[in-house]
Amino acid sequence: MSFKKIKLGHIRSIPIYIDYSWFLIFGLFVFTLTRYFAFSLKLESLSFLPLSMGIITVILAFTCFLIHELSHSFVAIKNGIPIKHITLYMLGLGAALSKDMENAGQEFKIAIAGPIANFIIAGLLIWPTIILFQGLPAYYPIWLILDYLVMINIIVGLFNLAPAFPLDGGRILRSALWFIFKNKIKATRAAVWVGRFMAGLMFFIALHYGMIIMLLISVYIFFMGNAELARLEQKK
Ligand SMILES: [Zn+2]
Repeated sequence: MSFKKIKLGHIRSIPIYIDYSWFLIFGLFVFTLTRYFAFSLKLESLSFLPLSMGIITVILAFTCFLIHELSHSFVAIKNGIPIKHITLYMLGLGAALSKDMENAGQEFKIAIAGPIANFIIAGLLIWPTIILFQGLPAYYPIWLILDYLVMINIIVGLFNLAPAFPLDGGRILRSALWFIFKNKIKATRAAVWVGRFMAGLMFFIALHYGMIIMLLISVYIFFMGNAELARLEQKK
């Protein structure tokens, strides 16, 4: 275990870690949400209710992101690819596969499992959200949390489907190209090029609107795509 990680526990023998960088995003996320809840409830930013709502919502949101990674992991394990660990980083979560995918079908199933999990969670949470809406304003704080969780799951599911390799959508694209070309490296090269274009687009949009996290994610996508391609080409 490295000095940069804290072990949270195990889920079905997959170790779950928190990287120290994650606490930065946790704090930023709580701060942003607390302000949003305070604004919605017409309260002071640092009063108890919005702050506790912010903390609870961020923990629940990360639980949803963890379920996303676990879905990838369980499908991978079912396909004979053990998972080394799942780690929460500053820019999201990652499940570390112990070996490379062997065929396009495997990659497709593993990649799509994550966003599907988010859509299922959103689908399940939308019912209590609708029901509570009728009981407003008494349940307003709970409704705000649920409403946010439905929205964040839909956003995360859709965002991950963007064809920006190595995001899930980029992996789905690679699996399709892999199936067509019957060549993993050729498929990766094409998917990485689409990913670079998407990362560039994201970069300028983020720059234009001053979205710092999005800016970092676009840079991350660019370099991670390059790194994975380089690794595959070296292995050849
Ligand atoms: Zn994913």
